[in-house]
Amino acid sequence: MANAWVEAKKHLVGGVNSPVRAFKAVGGTPVFMAKGRGPFLFDNHGRRYVDYCLSWGAILFGHADPQTVRVVQRRAAKGTGFGTATECETALAREIKKAFPRMEKIRFTSSGTEAVMSAIRLARGITGRSRILKFEGGYHGHADSLLVKAGSGLATLGSPDSDGVPREIARLTTVLSYNDAAAARRVLRKKDVACVVVEPVAGNMGVVPASKEFLNTLRDETRRNGSLLIFDEVISGYRVAYGGASHLYGVEPDLTVLGKIIGGGLPVGAFGGRAALMNVLSPLGKVYQAGTLSGNPLSMAAGLSVLSRLSKKFYETLDAKTTPFFERAREILAARGAMIQNAGSMFTVFFGVEGVRSFSDAARSNKKEYRRFFHHLLRSGVYFPPSAFESCFVSFSHGDAELGRTLEVFEKFI
Ligand SMILES: *Cc1c(COP(=O)(O)O)cnc(C)c1O
Repeated sequence: MANAWVEAKKHLVGGVNSPVRAFKAVGGTPVFMAKGRGPFLFDNHGRRYVDYCLSWGAILFGHADPQTVRVVQRRAAKGTGFGTATECETALAREIKKAFPRMEKIRFTSSGTEAVMSAIRLARGITGRSRILKFEGGYHGHADSLLVKAGSGLATLGSPDSDGVPREIARLTTVLSYNDAAAARRVLRKKDVACVVVEPVAGNMGVVPASKEFLNTLRDETRRNGSLLIFDEVISGYRVAYGGASHLYGVEPDLTVLGKIIGGGLPVGAFGGRAALMNVLSPLGKVYQAGTLSGNPLSMAAGLSVLSRLSKKFYETLDAKTTPFFERAREILAARGAMIQNAGSMFTVFFGVEGVRSFSDAARSNKKEYRRFFHHLLRSGVYFPPSAFESCFVSFSHGDAELGRTLEVFEKFI
């Protein structure tokens, strides 16, 4: 393993292609995974782990899900992409509309980043306004205007999180504290905001559900001031419920962004909304958006093989499996000052805090303790995301045996 890491660092920047994989937040050497099957990952030495990272939530049925594998193999044999119109794009869009009926028109991309970036361009094109509003701890991919956080709870002009993002661009992003309805109301009383982009269940500062009041305020105030409400459901869509967080809260955004699960584990993103809004995109309208591999047949086929098996009932079954697991885990981990926040099958173990409603709450959690927890789990054959501010996920393939074994590993930590 050490050897694989040494070699990787010779040829890849920091040894990885996405920073969190480098284990900087938890220390130690990243584990190189060789294969997955159901709830398990196997590293390059054949060691087995119960996986709760699940490709950052993109995997819903488990690794190498036989049906998905079969569909992708069959599809690949017919050609991996043509750069032309194909019927499988229509098929996946039609399937998505069963769960998200308000996504009347859909555009597929190759990543969530592209989908959010394009949805924001569309909102700016429609409204003719430049400012966007986001919330601290909300991750919406790595487009320039979204790599911006803020001070505590007050409306502050954005300053970039990353070198290379011009201040002129960051300044167009206003960042507020998550779940702060009053602050959002104040900012939205000014008529210069093109759109609000929000994770209705936050998953990138750990799992932090929005309050109903917060989402209702965003809905009412954007409607009042003529800006668009964008729900970034790249994680929460098809994870927290059939129809996503929007369905769970009964709040309808103007534009919805999806990703992760809808590609069945292959690269994908999508955004959609009312036809009148979406038709402003090229080729019908004047907002340009494109992609060589957008809607590629492999992602479409893999996505369809997953989504076509989902229903309200599926999520009831999944929740029935996870609820007792979370209950027992809460009892066990409380002995070490930890609490669990979850929304459906996504969850985070926070150490040393009572409840997390915003990024500043999450930031107060005990990162050292998480680090110890993470390495204990790793040694014991349980793979958690290598950062205290991420979501863990349970797949449909996690059975009583794996969940039970995980609880035993939690007990040993105590
Ligand atoms: C993962 C994620 C993205 C970015 O998607 P990529 O496919 O990694 O570009 C955007 N928004 C949210 C909420 C995400 O979790």
